[in-house]
Amino acid sequence: MRAAVLHEIGQDKLDVLDDVEAVGFGPGRVRIRVRATGLCHSDLSAMNGVLPQPAPFVPGHEGAGEILEVGDGVTHLKPGDRVVVCWLPACGVCPACKRGQTELCLAGFMNAGTPNFRRPGGDVFGMAGTGTFTEEVVVDAGCAVPIPDDVPFDIAALIGCGVTTGLGAAINTAAVQAGSSVAVIGCGGVGISAIQGARLQGAAEIVAVDPVQSRREAALKFGATKAVSPEELADAKQQLTAGEGFDYVFEVVGRSATARTAYDTTRRGGTMVVVGAGAMDDNLQLNMFELFFDEKRILPSMYGGGDVLRSYERTIALWRAGRVDLEGLITHRVPLSGINEALDQMRTGTALRTCIEI
Ligand SMILES: [Zn+2]
Ligand SMILES: [Zn+2]
Repeated sequence: MRAAVLHEIGQDKLDVLDDVEAVGFGPGRVRIRVRATGLCHSDLSAMNGVLPQPAPFVPGHEGAGEILEVGDGVTHLKPGDRVVVCWLPACGVCPACKRGQTELCLAGFMNAGTPNFRRPGGDVFGMAGTGTFTEEVVVDAGCAVPIPDDVPFDIAALIGCGVTTGLGAAINTAAVQAGSSVAVIGCGGVGISAIQGARLQGAAEIVAVDPVQSRREAALKFGATKAVSPEELADAKQQLTAGEGFDYVFEVVGRSATARTAYDTTRRGGTMVVVGAGAMDDNLQLNMFELFFDEKRILPSMYGGGDVLRSYERTIALWRAGRVDLEGLITHRVPLSGINEALDQMRTGTALRTCIEI
């Protein structure tokens, strides 16, 4: 079958091959025919080494498709079921799961060192234990979350990572208060979802911050009340908050420099939400005086910062009611053979989300 493979960390192009096999099927596992997958910024970060990932590997962790076969002991799924691929499955029994913080369950990462694919040349891993830039993937049954029939695969794929992450950051982690002021730094698919989440929560001012003009224009359509380039942010802060800073600032880039900007743009006593996935060697510097004296809360948000399956259900309900725009996030569509084109669209910032139709 066909899959897109990165041979070595640091390469910038994927190799679409037709000699890849999805391996690991057995008890407790399911085989999925992937139908749609989104390209998330974390895929690029795994390819360039910012996020740890063994290679060679098949990127992609934001996908949806149909169940082809289920292993022994799998009772909640059957062939033909439509599913979202969840890269962070909840084991249900660990302390984090029992607290309802399934986004912190580490069970899924236990499989990260096990290859999901094989080629004549040897083993191939899957991104974050999944790997969705492929026709088929075998995952733990917990990674396959059933979705209602009215949710198209392209929409379901977005729910698998970016939308859940962005909406959850605003609704679960920050619990943005009605009437508050918000800035969102980084307005790709996740940042736009954070903007939609802040709008749903009733934020009064939502400032989108991004160097790419097309993203700033998009942000205004999704609920931002103002869109500025990074250079214009200080002026916006002055103008909208009389220099005090925003009640909430979302860092959706994953770099210490933008995190520092986010911290400085948050008002005293306000909340900075860290959404971007950054590198282990990129350190954020804060001095102990400001940390204490300014009482700014720093809230990291992993995968939407709440029970993952409840977040999926909530997103589907909001989408069905027309309260969030997910269709509008898909700015580009390509077949699997166009995957490198999709990578370029992500790197240049011209895409909010590219849907890869498989
Ligand atoms: Zn768990
Ligand atoms: Zn992602």
